Amino acid sequence: MSRKSSLVVTYGPDFRRRLLRWFRRHGRDLPWRRTRDPYHVVVSEFMLQQTQVSRVEAYYQRFISEWPTVHDLARAEPERVRERWQGLGYYRRAANLQRLAQVVVEQHEGRVPDDPEVLLRLPGVGRYTAGAVASFAYERPAPAVDTNVARVIRRAFHPRGAPEAAVWTTAALLVPRRRGPTAWAFNQAIMELGALICTARVARCGLCPVRTACATGRRFVGAEKRPRL
Ligand code: SF4
Repeated sequence: MSRKSSLVVTYGPDFRRRLLRWFRRHGRDLPWRRTRDPYHVVVSEFMLQQTQVSRVEAYYQRFISEWPTVHDLARAEPERVRERWQGLGYYRRAANLQRLAQVVVEQHEGRVPDDPEVLLRLPGVGRYTAGAVASFAYERPAPAVDTNVARVIRRAFHPRGAPEAAVWTTAALLVPRRRGPTAWAFNQAIMELGALICTARVARCGLCPVRTACATGRRFVGAEKRPRL
C-alpha cells in the first residue's frame, strides 16, 4: 500500500465524520441545496462554474422562475436566455445549458441522466459537473472534484502535491459508499470547507474541523498559516 493511500485509509473515516458534523452545523443554506430537482441542480452547477455563490443566487432564482422545467428551457428563445444570463459572463455556458436541455428532452425523455458517464456526454458537462449532478440531484456516491475540493484533498492527503488523477482517486475513496443523503452531504461539505476554511488564500487550520485528520493540519495546528503546497 502506498503512503498516499495509507493516509486515506488511516485518516479518511475520521476526516469524513468530522467534515459531515461540521457541515450539519455550519453549511450555508443555499437555494440549490434545498432541491434535488436534477434540472435545477444542473442550472446551479452551470451558473457556479467560475462564478461566486453570492453572485449566482439571484440569477438562479430568476432563471428557475422563468424556465421552471427542462422542457421550458429547451423551447425558450435563445436571445432571451442570453439576456437572463447577462452579468454572469461566460455566455457559452448559457448556450450549452440550453443545448443540454434540448438533448435531455430529445434523447432522454426529459429526464436528466443520473450516471456520470452518460452526463459527461451532454453539452458543457465536464468530469466535475457530471459528478456534481449525479451526487447533488440523485445522491449518488460519485466524486466531484472542483478547485476547492482539489485543494482540500491535496492539503489533507497529498501534502507534497499530486496529479489530478490521484486527487480524483482519493476523492472516490473518501465519498461514502452508499447512495443517499450522506453522499450528497459529503460532496457539499468538502466544497464548503474549501470555500470557507481551507481557502486558496489561507488555510485556517486553527479553525478547521478536520485538522486532526489532515496531513497539513496536523503540522500547522493551532495557528493560521500558509502551508507550502
Ligand atoms: S486542517 Fe488546514 S490544510 Fe487541512 S483541511 Fe483544514 S484548513 Fe485545510
